This record gives sequence, C-alpha cells and structure tokens, in this order.
Amino acid sequence: MEETEVLVVGGGQAGIAMSEHLTRGGVPHIVVERDRVAERWRSWRWDSLVANGPAWHDRFPGMEFDLDPDAFAGKDEVAEYLTAYAANFGAPIRTGVEVTSVRKNAGAPGFRAVTSQGTIAARYVVAATGPFQTPIVPQVVPASAGIHQIHSSAYHRPGQLPEGGVLVVGAGSSGVQIADELRASGREVFLAVGPHDRPPRSYRGRDFCYWLGVLGKWDAATPAAGAEHVTIAVSGANGGRTVDFRRLAASGITLLGRAGAYADGVLAFAPDLAKNIAAGDANYLGLLQEADAFIARNGLDLPEEPAAHVLGPDPLCVTDPILQLDLERAGITSIVWATGFGADYGWLEVDTFDERGRPRHQRGVSAEPGVYFLGLPWQSRRGSSFIWGVWHDAKYLADQIAIQRGYRAYDDAHPTASEPVLATTGASR
Ligand SMILES: Cc1cc2nc3c(=O)[nH]c(=O)nc-3n(C[C@H](O)[C@H](O)[C@H](O)COP(=O)(O)OP(=O)(O)OC[C@H]3O[C@@H](n4cnc5c(N)ncnc54)[C@H](O)[C@@H]3O)c2cc1C
Repeated sequence: MEETEVLVVGGGQAGIAMSEHLTRGGVPHIVVERDRVAERWRSWRWDSLVANGPAWHDRFPGMEFDLDPDAFAGKDEVAEYLTAYAANFGAPIRTGVEVTSVRKNAGAPGFRAVTSQGTIAARYVVAATGPFQTPIVPQVVPASAGIHQIHSSAYHRPGQLPEGGVLVVGAGSSGVQIADELRASGREVFLAVGPHDRPPRSYRGRDFCYWLGVLGKWDAATPAAGAEHVTIAVSGANGGRTVDFRRLAASGITLLGRAGAYADGVLAFAPDLAKNIAAGDANYLGLLQEADAFIARNGLDLPEEPAAHVLGPDPLCVTDPILQLDLERAGITSIVWATGFGADYGWLEVDTFDERGRPRHQRGVSAEPGVYFLGLPWQSRRGSSFIWGVWHDAKYLADQIAIQRGYRAYDDAHPTASEPVLATTGASR
C-alpha cells in the first residue's frame, strides 16, 4: 500500500491550489483526479462559456492569463490556465484515478483510501471535489411527456437540442446565458426566473468584480438572511453585458415565474415573476448606490453613469405573466434545467456530515480530525467557490495541516508520557 502525508481528492482549481500551498510547505502529498485536470471546465460547460469575471480578476494570484486583462477567458482557456499553473510547480496530480472510499483507520491515526488504482494510506485527506458536483434536475416533467430534458451542465450548443422551442428553468448565470444563446440562434425561448442578484456588469468604468471586492462583498462571511440560495446572474458573454431581463424580453424571450407542478401537458408557474424582477432590480440599484458612495468617500475620479440608473418599464410578460403553459401548444420540445448542483460525498465514509449529507466543518476544517473540505460554497466567504477565493482557503487549510503536523512532531519527540513535557505552542515546524 502506498503512503503519503496528505491525499487531495479532486484535480480542479481547488486541488491545484491545495497542492501549491502544500508544496510550498514541503508537505508530501498526492492529488488524485478521476478524469483530467480541470475536467469540469472542459466538459461540464457549454462551448461558448467564458469566465464570469475578467482575466485580471478570475485567476490565482501567482499567474496571469495570457490575455487582455479585461477580456473574459473561454472555458478551455481556463482549463489550460489551470493545467499550466499545476505544471509550473510540478503538482503531483494523478489523473484517471477515482477515489471510491476513504475510511478512518481504527485505533490509529490516518485514513485509508481505496482508489481505482490501489490503496493509499494518508494522515490527512482534503476533499476538493467541487462546489457543484451532482446536477439537480427536479422531477417535475415525466419522461412520458415526450420532452427532451437536460441539465445545464450537459448543454453545449443550440444545435444539440431537437428542433423547436426551449424552456430554460433557472435564471442564474447559466440559465440566462443559455436562454440568450438559444434565442440568438433563432429559437423560441421561455425562461423561468426565480430570485436572483444581478449586479451591473460594470459601473463607472469598473467591473462588478472590482465593486464586490472593494465593497467587501466577496469577503462576506455568510449570506444575507434568507439569501442562501439566491443565485448571481452575471455574464461575460459578448464582451460582458449586464444581465438585463428587460433586454432579454425585448429580444423575444418570454419570462415566466418559478416553475411549479406539471399535469396533462401543462406546466404551472408561480405568480412571483414581478417580485423576482423587482428584487433583482433592487439588488442592482443598491450596488450602484454603494459604488457611488465609495467613489465619493474616496474621492475617486470615475465618470458618472446616470443612464445605468434608468431601468425602463417592465415588459408585458412581467406585468401580465403566464401562469400556465401547455408545453406542446407553445411549441416547446426541450427543457434545459439550469437548476444548480448538489453534493455527493458517498466515497468519504467518515463522521462529518449532517442529516442532509452536508459537510460539518469550520472554514473547511471538518468535524472528523484530519479531514478537510475545500471549494465549498461559502466555505469561509462568498468568494470561496471561485478561482481566486479557493486559493486563499487552500492557504488556510495548509496552515491548519501544518499546525496538526506540529503536534505530531511533538508526539514523535516525546513518545511516552513519562518524559518531561516542555511548554509548546503547537506551532508548525
Ligand atoms: C457554469 C459555471 C461557470 C462558472 N464560472 C466561473 C467563473 O467564471 N469564475 C469562477 O471563479 N468560478 C466559476 N465557477 C465556479 C467554480 O469556479 C467552478 O465550479 C470550479 O469548477 C470549481 O472548482 P473546484 O476545483 O472546486 O471543483 P471542480 O472543478 O468541480 O473539481 C473537482 C474535481 O474532483 C474530481 N472528483 C470528484 N470526485 C472524485 C473522486 N471520488 N475521485 C477523484 N476525483 C474526483 C472531479 O472529476 C473534478 O475534476 C463556475 C461554475 C459553473 C458551474
């Protein structure tokens, strides 16, 4: 059986960031990835997807993209960037290796991981298997309805869908971009819109990533009350434009409220569309006001942008919403469920999950000593699941592992209790 100090499971940005910090600390480790490095950027994203943030922002601190800093990297460019980044410091990543189980050693420290290529013993395990693991497709429309249904992670391009209209359910960054692309390709498109935040793409010459940064919002430690599941609708597509539901409606997309029950070919929609649009508008306008206040407080010389405050009237589909839609009569042949992802830690057989299977942890340090999580949504702050945020969380976890190794080093130097106990801070070595 192979032995290592730290086993990192997952070779996406989280696993790479973890490996970088462990490498810096001289900690022996192995990263195992069941597919290829950054696989989710390669095959779980649609062809035209670009990063939500500009290249100067959506990156690790240690390397820039080979792009105009204000451009938005394509999904393959992000994958190549992460691959090159890992190669730069010689990250010990093994691809094509799946971890099928991790168990705590009985009566001894450390863990035993069974992989598709043998067993690995490790003192510490970092689960870096992603914030978005298992596509969630609500079981609403039965297969017998004869409608082609896919999750947004399986959407690649308009041509893969059968001829006809498309219902896109979910108006986060994925749903709005997919709906926009389908409409531009000439499809009849319906978009079910739930609660969302929609920051301005840019305001007064600065990208929204800048505004969320300087206003401390990426660092927010917990979601605002009741906002745990509120998605951010942003897009870097077409050079980057604010997600504007009025523009989407003007392009011919029919906006609907949240999708509800289905019966006899008819899908119901909640009467919440106007409310959701208004809450998104309030979020948008609130950010403009906070940006204005920041500019004034700091005496910045950034051009005023009064037009950004003008939203225009709500479109008819918002003021007189459709509450029931006969899918066949509306010509809908496909549904794209842009309804998010769940987690699957079935392979991690340790006692650190709540009754709903969610990790119990504090900033990624799990309730099972020696097990760490990385890349979770809101792991330590809003930015945790994003490229730049995960790097900082990885640094923190590497520090926590070093602290535990310090205690172990003390144990090794003092194998019995009979020896004199010297004062120690437990600091890392
Ligand atoms: C559509 C979309 C667009 C996004 N756009 C941006 C963006 O523009 N900017 C940004 O900062 N963030 C973006 N994100 C968020 C985030 O950056 C990505 O989700 C990113 O892929 C998360 O990286 P990760 O390393 O944490 O997880 P993942 O990329 O999901 O990597 C986890 C890896 O673990 C592997 N794995 C899982 N289980 C096992 C196992 N048992 N054994 C071995 N390997 C395993 C998987 O194969 C996978 O490669 C986006 C997310 C989505 C869904």
